[in-house]
Amino acid sequence: MLVRTRSDELFAEALKYIPGGVNSPVRAFRAVGGQPFFVHKAEGAKVYDVDGNHYIDYVGTWGPAILGHAHPKIIQAVRETAVQGTSFGIPNPLEVRIAKLICELVESVEKVRFCNSGTEACMSAIRLARGYTRRDKIIKFDGCYHGHTDSLLVKAGSGALTFGHPDSAGVPAAFTEHTVVIPFNDPEAVKAAFAANAGQVAGIIVEPVPGNAGVYLPEPGYFAFLREITAANGSVLIFDEVMTGFRVGLGGAQERFGIRPDLSCFGKIIGGGLPVGAFGGRAEIMDCLAPLGPVYQAGTLSGNPLAMAAGLAALEELRNSDAHVRLEALGANLEKGMKEAARAAGVPVVFNRCGSMFCGFFTEHPVRNLADAMRSDRERFARYFHGMLEQGVYLAPSQFEAGFISTAHSEDDIERTVAAAALVMKAL
Ligand SMILES: *Cc1c(COP(=O)(O)O)cnc(C)c1O
Repeated sequence: MLVRTRSDELFAEALKYIPGGVNSPVRAFRAVGGQPFFVHKAEGAKVYDVDGNHYIDYVGTWGPAILGHAHPKIIQAVRETAVQGTSFGIPNPLEVRIAKLICELVESVEKVRFCNSGTEACMSAIRLARGYTRRDKIIKFDGCYHGHTDSLLVKAGSGALTFGHPDSAGVPAAFTEHTVVIPFNDPEAVKAAFAANAGQVAGIIVEPVPGNAGVYLPEPGYFAFLREITAANGSVLIFDEVMTGFRVGLGGAQERFGIRPDLSCFGKIIGGGLPVGAFGGRAEIMDCLAPLGPVYQAGTLSGNPLAMAAGLAALEELRNSDAHVRLEALGANLEKGMKEAARAAGVPVVFNRCGSMFCGFFTEHPVRNLADAMRSDRERFARYFHGMLEQGVYLAPSQFEAGFISTAHSEDDIERTVAAAALVMKAL
C-alpha cells in the first residue's frame, strides 16, 4: 500500500477551510472513493506527491499539459515575462502575437478575444451568438460540458422539446429555459429541436469530441449535418474546443473533421498551464463585441502577460515539433495494449480514443453518447482506478473523464501503464 500520511494530514486541514477540501469538485475522489493526494511537483509525464510517491500522469492538469508538466520553454517564457510585471491592464505585445498565431493555426478563426477560463469563453460565445442573431435559444447536447455558467449547467430534460432543468441548485429555472438539451449523435433530435423552436435558435454549442462524460466520437456525417442545419436556419455553430483545441490536431477537431464552425471556444492548452480562455471566429460576428458592437464582454486580467507568454510558448512548440504525430503513435500503442490487456483478463472494455484523448469504459456496448456512457460499470472503474494508482498510474478519478497523453510520455511509460492495467484488470 502507498503511504500517504502527509497528504491525509493536508486534506484534513483543507477540509476545515475549503468546502470539500478542493477548489474544483472533480479533484475530490467522490466518484471512486478515498481522498485526493497532494502534489508538490510535476515534471514531464510524472506527478510527485508530498509523501514521496510518484505517478505516471494521464490527467495532465485536466488537459493543458500536452507537452508534459513544467516544459522548459514554458517555464522560461513565464520567468522572463514575470520580471517585467505580472499584469498591466493595458495592451501588451504578447496578446497580439498569440492572437495572430491562433488565427493562423485555426482556419475558421479570423478574430479572437482572450478571457480567463473555458467557462468564460463558452459563456461569452453564447452571449455573442445571441447578440449577433438577436435570438435566445441555444441547443446543447447531453453530457457535453461547457463550463459552469448558469444557462449551460443543464442535463437532459425529457427530450428536445421540453425546457431544460437546472443541473445545480442555485440556478433559477428561468435562466435555463432557453437552453434546449438533446442527445449527441442523433440528427433527428436536432431537426425536432429546430422545428419546435423555429426562428428562435441562436446557435448550437457542441464539444467536437465530447470528453466530459468519458470520450466518444461523432458519427460520420454528423458534424456536416450540424453545419448544414445551422446555416440553413441562420444559427451560429459553436465548437467548444476548450479540450480538443490544439490537442486532436494543431488546428483542433475542426481541422481533423473538416468542419468550419462560426465560433470556437478555447482554454486549457492555450494557457500553457496558466488560467486562460479564448473565443474566436468569423470577424463579422466577433465585431459585435464591445467596444465595436453591442455585446458586452470584459476582464481585468484578460490577456494577462504571464498567461499569454505561457500559451504562446506552448503553441509555438506544438507548431514547430512533430508533437501530433508522436501523440497519435503513443495513443495507438496505448489503445492496442489496453484492448489486449482487457481481452486477456476477460473484462469487457470499450476503449474510445481520438489522438491523445482516450477513455476506457467498463461495458460491452459501444459508447456513442451520454446514455451509453451511463451504462458502464462505475464500481468496477473505481476498483480499477485505485488498482492503477497503487501501480503508480494516475488516471482521472471518475469513469466520466478523458485521459490525456502528453509528448513527455515515453514508449516505456505506455508499456508500464499497459502492464499495470493487465495486472489490475486480472484482479477485477
Ligand atoms: C474544461 C472545459 C470547459 C471549462 O473550462 P474551465 O477553464 O474549467 O472553465 C469548457 N468546455 C470544455 C469542453 C471543457 O473541457
